[in-house]
Amino acid sequence: MKIFMASFGTETNVFAPMPTGWEDFEECYFYRHDTLSQPSKLFNSPMHLWNKRAKEDGHEVICSLSTFAMPAGITVRHVYEELRDMVLDDLRAAGPVDIVLLSQHGAMIAQGYDDCEGDLMAEIRKIVGEKVIVGTELDLHGHLTDKMMDSANLLVFFKHYPHDDIDERADELYDLAIASAEQKITPVMRFWDCKMIAFYRTPIEPMASFVAEMKEREKEPGVLSLSLCHGFPTGDMPDVGTRMMAITDNDPDLASSLAEEFGQKIWELREDFRVDFPSIDTALTYSHESNKHPIVLADISDNAGGGAPSDSTVMLRAVLEKDMDDVAIGIFWDPGVVRICKAAGKGAVLDLCLGGKHGVVSGLPLNINAEIMNVTTHQAQAMGDGDVMMPLGTLVWLRMENNINILVNDVRNQALSRLPFLEIGIELEKLGTIIVKSSNHFFNSFDVVAEEIIHVSGPGAMSFDSATIPYKKRDGNYWPKVENPHK
Ligand SMILES: [Zn+2]
Repeated sequence: MKIFMASFGTETNVFAPMPTGWEDFEECYFYRHDTLSQPSKLFNSPMHLWNKRAKEDGHEVICSLSTFAMPAGITVRHVYEELRDMVLDDLRAAGPVDIVLLSQHGAMIAQGYDDCEGDLMAEIRKIVGEKVIVGTELDLHGHLTDKMMDSANLLVFFKHYPHDDIDERADELYDLAIASAEQKITPVMRFWDCKMIAFYRTPIEPMASFVAEMKEREKEPGVLSLSLCHGFPTGDMPDVGTRMMAITDNDPDLASSLAEEFGQKIWELREDFRVDFPSIDTALTYSHESNKHPIVLADISDNAGGGAPSDSTVMLRAVLEKDMDDVAIGIFWDPGVVRICKAAGKGAVLDLCLGGKHGVVSGLPLNINAEIMNVTTHQAQAMGDGDVMMPLGTLVWLRMENNINILVNDVRNQALSRLPFLEIGIELEKLGTIIVKSSNHFFNSFDVVAEEIIHVSGPGAMSFDSATIPYKKRDGNYWPKVENPHK
C-alpha cells in the first residue's frame, strides 16, 4: 500500500497579542520532504513512527510537510493557505494513495478559517475521493468539528495531559488505518457534546481513572477508539468545548451510546473541574511562610504553550515586593535581554529591563540588577523527561540578591521540564519556591522534586475561568457559564 503523511499546525489563542507568521513555523521546525532524516520533534514524532511501521510492513511512504509554530495569536491567512497548499500539491503529485495519515493539533485558527484542520481534511478528501482512508492524530486541546467528522475516517486524540502518549496514539491510529484500508474493519465515528469548557489534568483524579476506563473499554469487541477532546478554551470558534468521541467497527448505535456514556461521566464530574486556583498573593505568601521546600507554583496565565507571551513580570514583581529569597522563575521570553547578556558574558553584573514587552497583559517591564551566572546556546528541552526535543535558543541564568534566580531565553516556549534549570546550573532542591511559566506540561518533571505543586491564577493571555472568556463566535450555552446547558 501507499501511505501519504504530513503534519502541520499550531494552537491558536485568539486573545494572544502576537499573530502567528512564517517565522514562528521556521523557528520551531520546518521540513518539506526530509522530516524522516531529521530529529523527532513533538508533532512530527508520529511521522517517524508511521514510517518505521510502514517499512516493517512493506508499505510505500510519501512524506510531505512537517512544521509547527509555538502557540500564539491568530495565524496569518496567506501563511496557512501556503502551508495547506504545499500538502495538497504533494498529495496530487504522489498520485493514487491508499491511506493519508496526518498529525495535527486541532486548534489552529487562521484569518478566514476557524477550523484549519477541518479545512485541510476536506480538501484532502476532495483529492483522494471517498475510498481512501484518512486518519488524523490530534492534540486533546484541539477542537472537534463536523467538518473533521465528515472528511476523515479516523480521528484519534491524545489521552494524556501532559502529552506523553503521542507515540502510543500514533501506533493505534496506524493499526486502525491499515485494518480499515485492508477492509478488516469499517470505522464509524460519533461524538457527544459535553457542553463544557474546562481544564482537565489527567495525572490526577478523577481524570486518571477516566483515562484508564477509556483504555479498558477499548478492549471490548467492536470498540476501536475512545477519545476525550478537551478543547482549547481561548480558541474562540463556534465548536470550542469538550466533546467525547467514540469509534466503533460499523456500529453507529454503539458509537453514539459510548460517546454519550463517557461524555455523561465528564458532565457528572464537573464540580471537580470548577476553577479554584489561589491568587498570586495567596500562593506566594503560603510558599514564603511554608516549611515545605521546594514548592512549585505554576504561572498558568503566562504559558507560552497556550499562546501567552511568557514575559509577564507580575509574579516576579510580587516576589520582590514580598522580599522573598531562594526562588527560581522562568522561562522569560526576552530576546533583547538575552542579546545584552550574551554580549556581556558570564560574571557580568548588569542593570536590565526585563519582560513586560509583548502584550499589555504582561505587566510593565521590570528594572533589575542581576549577575549573569551562565549562558548556554542551542538549548533544547524535552516534553517531561522524554527524548522529543523542542528548541529554547539561548538561555541565560540571572541571579539577583536574596538568591532570586531568573531564566531568560530567545526562542519562546513554556517550561516543559526541569532540565533547562538543571543543565544551566540551578540547584532546584535547595530552593524554597520554583515558579514555572506553564499550565500543566511541567507537572511530571517537576513533581520529582516538588514537595507541593500549586496552580496560580493571575492576569495573563491564558484564562482558566472559562465563564468569563469574552467569546465572539462561541455561544454562551456551556458550563460553567450556565449551570445546565443540557436542558
Ligand atoms: Zn495540548
